[in-house]
Amino acid sequence: MSQFSVTFLGVRGTVPCCEKKYQEYGGHTSCILMEIDDHVLLFDAGSGIATANQYIKNKAQKNIHLFFSHVHLDHILGLPAYEALWSEQKNFHIYAGTLEPYGGIQCFLEKTFSAPLFPIDFKNFPANITYLDFNAGDSIQLSDGIKIDTCALNHPNGAIGYRVNYNHKSACYITDTEHKIGEIDHTISTLIYNTDLFIYDSTFTDDSYKSHKGWGHSTWQEGCRLSQASNVKSTAIFHHDPAHDDKAMQAIEKQISHMGGDVFIARQGQQINL
Ligand SMILES: [Zn+2]
Ligand SMILES: [Zn+2]
Repeated sequence: MSQFSVTFLGVRGTVPCCEKKYQEYGGHTSCILMEIDDHVLLFDAGSGIATANQYIKNKAQKNIHLFFSHVHLDHILGLPAYEALWSEQKNFHIYAGTLEPYGGIQCFLEKTFSAPLFPIDFKNFPANITYLDFNAGDSIQLSDGIKIDTCALNHPNGAIGYRVNYNHKSACYITDTEHKIGEIDHTISTLIYNTDLFIYDSTFTDDSYKSHKGWGHSTWQEGCRLSQASNVKSTAIFHHDPAHDDKAMQAIEKQISHMGGDVFIARQGQQINL
């Protein structure tokens, strides 16, 4: 029987939150692990990626596929701390869809992780790394019937939404993105239609959104509206605002429980089997 699991390694937006008051939902920034049979896929390299080896079941897998939604700091800051990059045994396949105006993902990573920001040049990391730049809307076919569809999101400097399809199951990773009030984003709705798991940028609430227009983020209520419009089975509230400590998240969770439908707040370390 085939296996398709999704693990939340980092659920926070903007900056890691380490204080006690963030322990229940978690403080690491964005990183999602998907294991499909023996394949290992990672989405974003926020501080959560540093914990990936604790969670990966197939530790012998040599090939690791890493997909970037975009490269804002909270989505890349954990990358050099991911120990698999320091192993000559590992083959990394790194994908991005927003970097062509900046010379591509290889150029970006080699420029970013170098002196004086980082003591070792990215090109000297021991792992074997291949790079793939694609355009929003492209589909990426991995081996064994894993197909990844993509779309453009509405975010400063761009961002990419992903849908991973395998054996009649699918999971969608949609962060960071901003909606327009009163309008369903049809690009996202089309990508996530009928999916089993929809992970969504829920940085704000509909109330706090009003004073954060143009910041490139959405709300948990919009996540609910999108999931209803798109016949989604299960929705994960994600990219939590550092302003929302556990108490604030608990209050949101209470409101969600009155909404009906399968909507939950993603917690660091949580694993979903599709
Ligand atoms: Zn972010
Ligand atoms: Zn961002």
